[in-house]
Amino acid sequence: MDKRCKEKTKAGPRCKAWVVDGSDYCWAHDPGLARKRARAKSNGGRGRSYPRGECPGDVATIDDALAGVNAALRSAWELDNTAERGRLLASLYDLSVRIVRPSEIEERIAALERSLE
Ligand SMILES: [Zn+2]
Repeated sequence: MDKRCKEKTKAGPRCKAWVVDGSDYCWAHDPGLARKRARAKSNGGRGRSYPRGECPGDVATIDDALAGVNAALRSAWELDNTAERGRLLASLYDLSVRIVRPSEIEERIAALERSLE
């Protein structure tokens, strides 16, 4: 049984695409799927986008910076599990650790203050 589409392409030769289940035509040529095709076309990849969420606002303090990084982390967790997502998550966690961890200078000042007490 031939499972290739019965339709001819606009260029002339027969369509080489596989038929959809229970049809003699492929997804692109099945007359019964015209509405679905139109809907998919008007959606234009919108299904792959994610809500932007609320902007955490300008960064004036460490807490503001952390709020932004945490918002980005929450968004990143929603993405498909890809190598790119893994790199994004790793870089966001690295950034959050650098924001939270006191700097070397802060630690030295604190040590000096303790020695003066
Ligand atoms: Zn076809």
